[in-house]
Amino acid sequence: MVHVLDRQFIEKATVTAPPLRSFLADRLQHTRQRIDAACRRSGRQATEITLVAVTKTVSAPVAAALAELGMEDLGESRPQELWRKAAALPATVRWHLIGHLQRNKIERTLPLVRLIHSVDSIRLLEALDQSSNVPVLLEVNASREPAKHGFSIEELPSLLPRLLALRRVRIHGLMTMAAFEDDPERCRPTFAQVRELRDRLRRDLVALHPLSHLSMGMSNDFEVAIEEGATLVRIGTALWEGMPAV
Ligand SMILES: *Cc1c(COP(=O)(O)O)cnc(C)c1O
Repeated sequence: MVHVLDRQFIEKATVTAPPLRSFLADRLQHTRQRIDAACRRSGRQATEITLVAVTKTVSAPVAAALAELGMEDLGESRPQELWRKAAALPATVRWHLIGHLQRNKIERTLPLVRLIHSVDSIRLLEALDQSSNVPVLLEVNASREPAKHGFSIEELPSLLPRLLALRRVRIHGLMTMAAFEDDPERCRPTFAQVRELRDRLRRDLVALHPLSHLSMGMSNDFEVAIEEGATLVRIGTALWEGMPAV
């Protein structure tokens, strides 16, 4: 058999070809081993961590091939792309929205998603509260990059009265994206800050909002994020690197 990492062969492979499946299986296994190792280092159980495979850069057939391997938590950052892939993939997939949701796309998105990681304004949160009891995470712009969406660390505690007034939507935790760093160790303070903010909010909100999750860590920094308490890691590049779009 051709070696699974033979790039030229993969380029020619169809999605159902065994070489692509073994490429994905290999990547998945390797990623899970890195998750396990980070858990061992930090005295956590691997079962506490949900790996969300971010499929925004791959085609629906590639996402389907991953789902066939048992990887059924998939993430998309654009609602329209999530709608498109959700229509093409089995209903067993649990979709995670990880990017900005415009209010005019709420209605069509809600029935498709298991969790919205990226609630980035009080306006969106209150609009969601009108329509559903969907589980959400609040996105925190902890790295203070102006291009990023999300609440600032300072503003969230001041919103407590409005969070307590929500009737239906439930806040299951916080999400953040660290700034890209060549050395992922430098992301650690960002992740620690978001965990501390979550702990603080939980004390005041737990009767209404569980706040049990931290969605943090991407391909470049997920091990550090796990060591700092992440329960959901959102990984794209580390799964697809070396595999051209099919
Ligand atoms: C694209 C994306 C990811 C995955 O990033 P990788 O570096 O490819 O692992 C995770 N979270 C969000 C919000 C994204 O937009």
